[in-house]
Amino acid sequence: MSLRASRKAQLLLLGLLLVLLVGGFAATSLVSYSTSRDSIRQNIVNTELPLTSDNIYSEIQKDLIRPILISSMMSRDTFLRDWVLAGEQDDEPMTRYLREVQEHYGAYTSFFISEKTHTYYQAKGVLKQVSEKEPRDIWYFRVRDMQPLYEINVDLDMANRDTMTIFINYKVFDYQGNFIGVTGVGLTVDAVVKLIDDYQQRYGRSVYFVDKNDKIVLTGVTGGPLGARAGQTLSAVPGLESLVHKLPKPQSGSYEYQEHGRGHFLNVRYIPELEWYLFVDKHEESALADIRHILYFNLLVCLLVSVIVLAVVYLATQRYQQHIAALATTDVLTGLSNRRGFNLLAQQAVLEAQRERSPLSALLIDLDHFKQLNDTHGHLAGDEVLRGFAKHLQSNLRQSDIICRWGGEEFILLLKDTGSSTARQLAEKIREQTENSRFPFAGVNLQVTTSIGLTELHDDDSLDRLIARADHALYRAKQSGRNRVCEETYELRP
Ligand code: GH3
Ligand code: MG
Ligand code: MG
Repeated sequence: MSLRASRKAQLLLLGLLLVLLVGGFAATSLVSYSTSRDSIRQNIVNTELPLTSDNIYSEIQKDLIRPILISSMMSRDTFLRDWVLAGEQDDEPMTRYLREVQEHYGAYTSFFISEKTHTYYQAKGVLKQVSEKEPRDIWYFRVRDMQPLYEINVDLDMANRDTMTIFINYKVFDYQGNFIGVTGVGLTVDAVVKLIDDYQQRYGRSVYFVDKNDKIVLTGVTGGPLGARAGQTLSAVPGLESLVHKLPKPQSGSYEYQEHGRGHFLNVRYIPELEWYLFVDKHEESALADIRHILYFNLLVCLLVSVIVLAVVYLATQRYQQHIAALATTDVLTGLSNRRGFNLLAQQAVLEAQRERSPLSALLIDLDHFKQLNDTHGHLAGDEVLRGFAKHLQSNLRQSDIICRWGGEEFILLLKDTGSSTARQLAEKIREQTENSRFPFAGVNLQVTTSIGLTELHDDDSLDRLIARADHALYRAKQSGRNRVCEETYELRP
């Protein structure tokens, strides 16, 4: 496989790993995120919000049903009716009666308004005269004219420093069924507000009541949705404008809506006693923040693991490639460069020498009568001599010299910055050293001689021409008796 092809294969492998790792990790992280998110959503919609709604509803009922009963009893009370029919002579029995009711039942206030005199009686005495012209008294005239026997009205109680109070306004009739006034009790909604606050602060929910005209009638201390206050209409709260139109009204149920791009879950419950809707609202962000953080953490870990795995695989394949490349250019027997390795280095050395006008010499070395050595002592002995000779050669060379097993028992040397006379000296040294060397193998000291062809690089030379001249010089060395160095200086004819 060529270097380019193996590089391509490496990239393909890395790409495939990247897709598998990142794809696999991301897919499992996202699936588990989406499963958790669905179950959290289900839990919010089916359990959390309805449960909150139930609790608040029962608290409201507790606070309201009893006062309705008390007010109903007051409206049927014979003392009250007799006292009115007797002409409202003395305020004292009436205020005492109202005080008794208030104290006994723990109401916040108790009252009676007479139709005949328009007097507003309270536990503390006569409060005032109600008047149709006074906006704060309009409620009385509304109750007088309405069809049902009573209403529940959230109002500010001016007798009690304008605290938010729920009034039960009950119509009173005489024994002939003539309307004679309105009585009832008022109670603060502190307990409910406290419960709402508790839910809002502890569980990040928004709890509020809305009447049939979309008016927010009751919220916690910190306000309702997005800080909206009681008295605001729901459609006037920025972000909730569309909510009102979406709700099929009047209808209880679960809804989902978007506000400023945030998903909300909403539980709506109709409270018939009040003719209000109880809204319990939770936005998705707060509920999903935790698992979203887990998702981000998972993705980060996935990214890190992928990067580490890819880096390890990249380094391993890189090393493997380098190893393969080294094997491809190295001779296994001697550890020298082979012809392929030589060509890569030699081409460059020739160009460099020509560019820098520095001398360069080539030595082509062939072992003499090697076939004979093989035949006499065996192929393994020949191998040992080749190995030993290669070692000798290396020990005679500089770092910059290029050495190669050219093939069989032939070796080639390129000597940088070396003219032919220095090269000849080196060649002679190699020849002499080899002649005098013994290569021990299987108890025998083997001997070998070398023939060396020498030539120097010409100005307009090519590597091939240089080698051909060295080959020619080697041929002459063989021809003239072996174990010698011959030099070729002339250009060969093609
Ligand atoms: P000359 O002096 O003319 O060079 O004679 P020679 O026998 O050395 O030359 P020839 O080219 O006839 O033979 C070369 C021999 O080298 C033949 C071959 O079997 C042997 N040879 C080549 N490669 C190896 C090798 O890797 N190991 C061994 N043991 N022998 C090898
Ligand atoms: Mg040969
Ligand atoms: Mg030979």
